[in-house]
Amino acid sequence: MYKIVHGPSACEDYKWLVPDPPQALSVLFLLCVIIHMEPCKSNLMNHESWYNSHWNKHRGDTDMNTYWPDYCQNFRCKADKCVHTCCAGWVIGIDEDSLARFNKEPDIACKIEDGCFVLRADGRCPFLRDDNLCEMIIKHGEDFLCDICKEHPRFYNEFEDHTEAGIGLVCEEACRLALTKDEPFALVSEDGSKMELPDYVKAVFDTSKTLSEKLNEISGGRRADSKLRAEIFDGMEVMDPKWTTLLGKIIAEPVSAEEENKALADNEKEFTNFAAYLLYRYKGSGRFASEAAYLLADLVIKGCGVQDVARVFSCEVEYSDINIDEALETFG
Ligand code: SF4
Repeated sequence: MYKIVHGPSACEDYKWLVPDPPQALSVLFLLCVIIHMEPCKSNLMNHESWYNSHWNKHRGDTDMNTYWPDYCQNFRCKADKCVHTCCAGWVIGIDEDSLARFNKEPDIACKIEDGCFVLRADGRCPFLRDDNLCEMIIKHGEDFLCDICKEHPRFYNEFEDHTEAGIGLVCEEACRLALTKDEPFALVSEDGSKMELPDYVKAVFDTSKTLSEKLNEISGGRRADSKLRAEIFDGMEVMDPKWTTLLGKIIAEPVSAEEENKALADNEKEFTNFAAYLLYRYKGSGRFASEAAYLLADLVIKGCGVQDVARVFSCEVEYSDINIDEALETFG
């Protein structure tokens, strides 16, 4: 479990969303929300060889295959070009092996406290330089990083005979790759073998139906109205108050089912890929994928961009253990 601290950098995350009054920004500077989450921290890696270096890495003691969506092969951390760097605003918990390594380096050890890097006052990692490059990588190389920094934004789902892996939408580059893919993604492993997509993922790529028809099917015909849906997500732990502001816009002025269906149709590729990502990552949780897609549709109607809200949704809901558990249970 790792703590997240949303400090001033969180203001940057929402610049694109709501042109709220300036005083709201200063409020953000005062708010610091700490929650529990799964390991989620990255760094400014080149990632030239990440695809190979991560194949089966976490299961090195087995010969089981790990399958990845094919778009993962194109993932490269944007490093200093990243607008929403994940090297700020999060408390970074260091694994034991890395901690032992870091403690031998006085210039690193002095920036660690209670097994975490001591963030700067502005919430940035102490090794994130002003030019948004990682001082640790520059001095010691990528292999020197702690596990979380090496692994982000990857996730793994273990099955009896294989592992399904992917990259989380909380990362803006992962989000772009996943949501802009023109064709259904394929699952491939290091040795080039392919695995058929699970039926629950394939269902959302069926071109004979509209996306709202498919969401209706995978959710078993259940669909909350926009106000209730926004209220449910609003009742969860908030990582950034701006998220509450956005949800409040739906609660204050709900969106009709017809409007939602149109927003889905207008952005069919992105929403289809978004639903497919959630179905893949959460092993066929159709109701959750459906409600999440409609929530994003509501936010798009309120003026947000699809990729932007997908990334923020991922940050707010997926990367909080508490929130994702609650969402999966509520929409199970
Ligand atoms: S959010 Fe993604 S692209 Fe940006 S710094 Fe982190 S891993 Fe790199």
